[in-house]
Amino acid sequence: MNYFIIDFDSTFIKTESLDELFRISNPTDKDLHEKINKITSDGMEGKLSFSQSLSNRIGILNANKDDIKKTINEIRDNITDSFKSNKDFFKKNKEYIFIVSSGFHEIIDPIVLNYHIPKKNIYANNFFFDENRKIIGFDKKNPLSKTKGKVEIIKNLKLNGTIHVLGDGYTDFEIKKDGYADYFYLFIENIKRESLTKNADFLVKSFDHFKNIVK
Ligand SMILES: [Mg+2]
Repeated sequence: MNYFIIDFDSTFIKTESLDELFRISNPTDKDLHEKINKITSDGMEGKLSFSQSLSNRIGILNANKDDIKKTINEIRDNITDSFKSNKDFFKKNKEYIFIVSSGFHEIIDPIVLNYHIPKKNIYANNFFFDENRKIIGFDKKNPLSKTKGKVEIIKNLKLNGTIHVLGDGYTDFEIKKDGYADYFYLFIENIKRESLTKNADFLVKSFDHFKNIVK
């Protein structure tokens, strides 16, 4: 049996969904964009853990449910081309496909459910809202809000078969690195992270390319 673990940001879609939410909710705030970049680079340099980085970013985010709706609409127009043309594959293999992301259910689910993936196969973070529909935090108990969250999710799934991970980032590779996947496919249709090419079993330039290797 083949299982497909698929990343969302810069893989299923062309962009990073949390960045889109920031852009849409705070379009003119230059200070904010600088602060975000600083948090991101501190994270990459190892000065901040993943959960601290997420916490700091959500802390300065000023967004509500309407901003989320606008973000979803924007993302609908930015689904990766070769994913759009392979909707049939998703429908046919939906029980074996898992979307695993450090993004948020509130943004990801409406997009992915449209591709017939069952809700139980979508793993992501959750926002917390106040009574005015404003985002005030996220569920810190969710493994995906922490370092190695994706590894933890796949480990707990206890899938019995061949596990294929398709993604553009280090946290996708980490699933294989820690022994919970058989193959890591670096997805380069949207972005090619050179530092990861040496870790990839395959460099995959489209979803069609991925299907051809797997079958
Ligand atoms: Mg990604």
